[in-house]
Amino acid sequence: MRNLEILTEEDKEALDLPRTTVDEIGKQDKKKLYIESYGCQMNFSDSEIVTSILQENGYATTSLFDEADVILLNTCAIRDNAEQKVRNRLKNFTHLKKKRPSLVVGVLGCMAERLKTKFLEEEKIVDVVAGPDSYRDLPNLFEEVEEGNKAINVFLSKEETYADISPVRLNSNGVTAFVSIMRGCDNMCSFCVVPFTRGRERSRDVYSILKECQDLLDNGYKEVTLLGQNVDSYKWASADGTETVNFAQLLERVALINPLLRVRFSTSHPKDITDEVLYTIKKYENVCNYIHLPAQSGSSRILKLMNRTYDRDWYINRVDKIREVLGEECGISQDIIAGFCTETEEDHQETLSLIEYVRYDYGYMFAYSERPGTPAAKKLVDDISDEEKQRRLAEIIALQRKISQERNEMSVGTIQKVLIEGDSKRSADFLQGRNDQNKMVILPKGNHQKGDYVNVKITSCSSATLFGEVE
Ligand code: SAM
Ligand code: SF4
Repeated sequence: MRNLEILTEEDKEALDLPRTTVDEIGKQDKKKLYIESYGCQMNFSDSEIVTSILQENGYATTSLFDEADVILLNTCAIRDNAEQKVRNRLKNFTHLKKKRPSLVVGVLGCMAERLKTKFLEEEKIVDVVAGPDSYRDLPNLFEEVEEGNKAINVFLSKEETYADISPVRLNSNGVTAFVSIMRGCDNMCSFCVVPFTRGRERSRDVYSILKECQDLLDNGYKEVTLLGQNVDSYKWASADGTETVNFAQLLERVALINPLLRVRFSTSHPKDITDEVLYTIKKYENVCNYIHLPAQSGSSRILKLMNRTYDRDWYINRVDKIREVLGEECGISQDIIAGFCTETEEDHQETLSLIEYVRYDYGYMFAYSERPGTPAAKKLVDDISDEEKQRRLAEIIALQRKISQERNEMSVGTIQKVLIEGDSKRSADFLQGRNDQNKMVILPKGNHQKGDYVNVKITSCSSATLFGEVE
């Protein structure tokens, strides 16, 4: 969600590469936990909750899987290749398990929820299967394994939001953090497995969100990204019903914590994003001028089959409103699926023309991957060949890359406020940070440090990155 690159399938694969915990938390005599996260930012955020729960229960974390007592993979089921990656990764642990039979291997997240007991049958190395709502039960599940059993909990909850758990920040740059504001999804986009793996939508208590954001600020963080599958349908009510908070109001309350705390959010659903949200972005300088607005397709016929509940005109109307309220410079990014069931060349051309119309800053683009059990898998035929899907995807990516380059060129010569996140990946003489529109900016190190806000004059760009000098 937060990567600036324009992602091909392969790039996305690269983004999905496992990230391990680098924090060494706890003492030598404790049991050691190694956790890898795959897929969307929600999973990375959930791994921080899991680590917190297990830390409370006497576990320390390690970044070396061969010294771990427990190995957990927090998995993604959104496309078939995400699942294959997890299955391949499990093979890497086989020799370890043979050497140390007491090693516990667990799978968490969406793939665990989708496959349930099948996972235990198909992957003999797996001892524990835990769905996204059962992480509090992990210590019990590990105990069951110690007693010689396999353990599984895939119950989905209507209430669980882990609101009271303080996530242990993993792989943190100490500047930016993700804060989950809701769980699950009540939309039934026909291609999507999420409603089946993450359950019903529920919003987290506003006060626990505000406290988490305040704690982050107190610990030196400068940016929070509010996370949910569909943040615009955030809705919280106090137990007595006297106080209700919608997403625009939540955004405002987080923005008011401190003007130095930047606020981002993801993901917005085109059917739900309100004008109130747009005016809140405009009102507060620290709410970033950037919206991730997945389109999925530019064809109304395909959008209907996808059950997205908006059509092309509706989507365009929302984009027009964003431009009217927030201006041409507001960053907009997309998710697009190429080659959905029955998609014709004409539908595909409509997707390309939508990209031309909106002029997205960047996007995440995928070939359609049929997921078992989804409405599309049950009712529609996955009738576009892989070659055709890849051809269309390549055209979409090429067009997006061209437009990203043009959009970035608009910034050359302007001054951008950048929050520095750390050293540039390519050279320690340079720093990297993000501007308001979530674009990566590279600048010479000078005397600046991560966590600083600096005004940077943009001098050049690629399709994915801006380069500049401190003013
Ligand atoms: N809730 C977000 C929304 O509705 O925009 C998206 C969540 S999903 C984790 C991220 C993206 O994965 C989707 O926007 C969609 O483009 C893509 N995706 C989901 N299911 C897919 C499938 N079966 N095949 C290909 N891409 C898929
Ligand atoms: Fe999936 Fe649609 Fe929910 Fe997004 S809004 S998670 S695409 S069902």
